Amino acid sequence: PTDLNALSDEYLRLAYHGLRAKNKEFNAQLITDFDPAIGLVDVVPQDMGRVLLNLFNNAFYAVREKQKTANQAYPPTVTVTTRRLKTTTEIRVRDNGTGIPDEVKEKIFQPFFTTKPAGQGTGLGLSLSHDIISAQGGTLMVKTQKGEGTEFIINLQI
Ligand code: ADP
Ligand code: MG
Repeated sequence: PTDLNALSDEYLRLAYHGLRAKNKEFNAQLITDFDPAIGLVDVVPQDMGRVLLNLFNNAFYAVREKQKTANQAYPPTVTVTTRRLKTTTEIRVRDNGTGIPDEVKEKIFQPFFTTKPAGQGTGLGLSLSHDIISAQGGTLMVKTQKGEGTEFIINLQI
């Protein structure tokens, strides 16, 4: 049984501080909205940690890409929300980064699919994450709007 609020918080900060160690000028707002009612969920914490780290790294990458073209007022923001729903525990990871065009969105869960330059992405993060969540009997979905941002939604059976 894993405390997914604590795990999400820990990996969000790990991803952010890892990035800032290499890019000292980078700042982002981290917003967390954790539902205390999610309680302990029966998942393998190392596996769920890998999924969360993938999603957070992707989110930070997307806001940094957007920052290259956005105006000064743009606040890169990554938001993590957890909710206890009727039959599932839900984790949402949202960014206000580049978003994903429709023709790319169809392929993001395929192994080795990446739009990142060589050395910056293996294209395995989302395919692995999808497999890990499926193996737990859960779902991983994406909602995105090009230019506006992206949200990944994990649902785990309670
Ligand atoms: P990688 O990060 O190595 O490219 P992933 O499987 O994690 O591989 O992601 C595949 C592709 O999905 C990325 O290259 C990118 O085009 C797209 N993607 C994933 N997450 C996001 C996001 N939060 N915002 C925009 N694009 C994303
Ligand atoms: Mg990735």
